[in-house]
Amino acid sequence: MRIANLSAEASPFAKTGGLGDIASSLPKALAATGHDVDVWVPFFLEAAEWFRRRGTWPEQEIEPFDVTVMGASHRVSILRSTLPGSTVPVHFVAHDSLFHRPGGLYSRNEHGADDGIWRFSLFVRAALEAMKRMGERPQVLHTHDWHPGLAPMLGAWSSWRDPWFDDVASVLTIHNVGYQGIYGPEQLPVLGLPPETWTGGLVEHGGAINMLKGAIVAADMVTTVSPTYAWEIRTPEGGAGLDGVLRLKASRLTGILNGIDRQEWNPETDPHLPSHYSLEDLRGKLDCRAELCRLANFEPADPAMIVGSVGRLAPQKGYDILLEAAPELIRRGVRIVVLGSGEPALEGSMRLLEAHYPRRFKGFIGYDDALSHKIQAGSDVLAMPSRYEPCGLTQMYALAYGTVPVVRRTGGLADSIIGLHGENLDWATGFHFDDPSPHAFAAEVLHAQNAFFHRDSWSRLMKNGMKADFSWGRSANDYELVYRRAREVRGLPW
Ligand code: ADP
Repeated sequence: MRIANLSAEASPFAKTGGLGDIASSLPKALAATGHDVDVWVPFFLEAAEWFRRRGTWPEQEIEPFDVTVMGASHRVSILRSTLPGSTVPVHFVAHDSLFHRPGGLYSRNEHGADDGIWRFSLFVRAALEAMKRMGERPQVLHTHDWHPGLAPMLGAWSSWRDPWFDDVASVLTIHNVGYQGIYGPEQLPVLGLPPETWTGGLVEHGGAINMLKGAIVAADMVTTVSPTYAWEIRTPEGGAGLDGVLRLKASRLTGILNGIDRQEWNPETDPHLPSHYSLEDLRGKLDCRAELCRLANFEPADPAMIVGSVGRLAPQKGYDILLEAAPELIRRGVRIVVLGSGEPALEGSMRLLEAHYPRRFKGFIGYDDALSHKIQAGSDVLAMPSRYEPCGLTQMYALAYGTVPVVRRTGGLADSIIGLHGENLDWATGFHFDDPSPHAFAAEVLHAQNAFFHRDSWSRLMKNGMKADFSWGRSANDYELVYRRAREVRGLPW
């Protein structure tokens, strides 16, 4: 099957979180099963820097052309490369003044305005135009999150859609329903959609443009990144205002747990680690632990348990819960390493904790891929006290690295970690807690600490986790079924 993925992020070129990982690992997994898959992403400054650091540059794929948005022409180029470690083509939509912006992928323009709707609409129009010019019509257009949401909308609502879409089915994957692309109604002309999309409530939600809602309504099939999250987003507590829309779509909504890229996340080959290790020979993990201690300014000979965590410092991730619990945990002998960036208040709390407990708490502020690998390998425990978690990848990386996760039982964390409850040591892979409070989190970390000092139990937990298979195999098959169903829904053969 020919599948074109449209995404704002694709690792390693541009990534702020799991979206970037999946937009690159899923296409690679599907290509490995024989599908003809490619990926379309904006050519962000981050991507340009990635190539510059390597002294290479993607090739120009077709002659630059103009895209018209609100009557004004914008010249775009299409550059081509491949996803590292594969032959999957990546097409970059390049428009320097829109995508070469300092301050991160989703930063505001020079006037401080959020012009995401504008940038991503131009990205979608350019990508679709390029596909037409290249004669590459996909059988399935797979869009990720709200950013390329205009694509399924352009292909839906048959009264006015472009006939090019007649043979193209669309699939939307919601990686996080908390990010919806909400803009004022005055921005509607940017989308170039007819007025009935507004009056009919298709892209309108609560008086504003809601890109994710429009994409949900328009897509032939909607997926999200874990079975539990597929259920949670249909409830008022988990739907972030879109639960009603998602309930209406229930028969075409399914949850597929993300897989992990074992080429990138494998302690036997990981180039970021000082020593390698495997299920059969775990000795190298001790070197990784010693290196992490050196980086964090901890005493390497101290046997105290190390709790690591890597993630965006956003309310969703529950870092306030972790940081509030930290003093009590440190008093009880635990050491904590956090890598993350985001909310200034949380960054400030990390600095304070580090000043108070210099050899027991380390906060690395920033985004650092190599360090994230070192924390996964060097920690004993990986903490994820998320308030909600669509899938979560870091707990799966932790399992692969023999690091035992302590997670809140929500979304994909509930689907991927089997909590130890006393009787299931033979198959448990981590620790669960339910209440999103510092007290409940600390209690579960101390439960883990108790197991940590029983070496046989701990080694069993580590090995159970390392044996768990979260590679893409099964999930890639499930996506294939979704693609077939999307074509069926649209009355198309496959
Ligand atoms: P989300 O998509 O909500 O951010 P996931 O757990 O699905 O959460 O994916 C997060 C991804 O981003 C993981 O690959 C994680 O290692 C990476 N990541 C998050 N924050 C950082 C950081 N500060 N430095 C390096 N990698 C990070």
